[in-house]
Amino acid sequence: MKKALVFGATGQVACALQRCAGDVVLEVRGRDEADFSDPAACAAWVAQTDADVVINAVAYTAVDKAEGDEAAALVVNATTPGAIAIAAAARGLPLVHISTDYVFDGAGDAPFGLDHPVAPLGAYGRSKLAGEVAVRAAGGVHAIFRTSWVVSPDGANFVKTMLRLGAERERLTIVADQIGGPTPADDIAVACFVAARQLLAGPSKSGTYHLSGGPDVSWADFAREIFRQAGLACEVVDIPSSAYPTPARRPLNSRLDNCATEAAFGLARPDWRFGLTEILKALGAKH
Ligand code: NDP
Repeated sequence: MKKALVFGATGQVACALQRCAGDVVLEVRGRDEADFSDPAACAAWVAQTDADVVINAVAYTAVDKAEGDEAAALVVNATTPGAIAIAAAARGLPLVHISTDYVFDGAGDAPFGLDHPVAPLGAYGRSKLAGEVAVRAAGGVHAIFRTSWVVSPDGANFVKTMLRLGAERERLTIVADQIGGPTPADDIAVACFVAARQLLAGPSKSGTYHLSGGPDVSWADFAREIFRQAGLACEVVDIPSSAYPTPARRPLNSRLDNCATEAAFGLARPDWRFGLTEILKALGAKH
């Protein structure tokens, strides 16, 4: 693989792709050139690229805002990925696309397998699920990675919020009944490149995969580990989700079964505690 066309320049995964590209040349198309509210314009970049693969790191990720803005979320998360997938299939280019644990309803306490029925709780999850369906329907070679709780030194995320609040306050109340796998964006980027290479070698691994960091943890325990590694003396008090109402319902269970990803691509489940250390170092916040 010599060159990858990447949609997205500024997001967590988009930045990680640029950080982790190694000797792969990237053709990065940000919002200024590829606005995902315009499916045809985005598909045109695929039609004219000389890249070997296409990676989509763009998404409408404002989960609460999507509740009142579902049509816009649907265009960015489904219509345009579908148009890109059709253009990639027409050119025989593998497409790597990112999806989410929010396609599930969060019931139970077992990790969700690939064959578990999807049942999104809100507009964002519905739009991301529609994106998966559109990418598959295009009929090209693809890898869809469902991930969860993405963290990195870039953009807005839980680690950066905790560092800010943990420095300001002595005590924070954090939701303790939502359990999932925090996933460093760099691990997603590496997975995208590994999958792209293997899809170029042959289409047999085309399909949907789960990629989340381990071990599974609650937001409250995740915050405790952030404060421990950052040397912040902020006390974390467990609260239930019911005490922190949001416009969009969050799944209580975000655990993802990563076995198929390891078997197909040799990608071991990343330990987010190591990724967290690297993020804190990059932010100058490691104790
Ligand atoms: P971010 O919110 O960090 O980045 C989203 C990116 O999409 C930004 O580059 C943003 O550009 C771009 N974007 C949004 N709308 C448009 C548009 N209309 N046209 C062009 N670009 C647009 O997301 P992440 O990197 O965290 O997410 C990567 C993937 O992972 C997504 O598919 C997401 O659904 C999935 N995911 C994320 C999770 C998380 O916790 N963040 C959890 C599970 C899955 P701009 O800066 O200009 O707005």
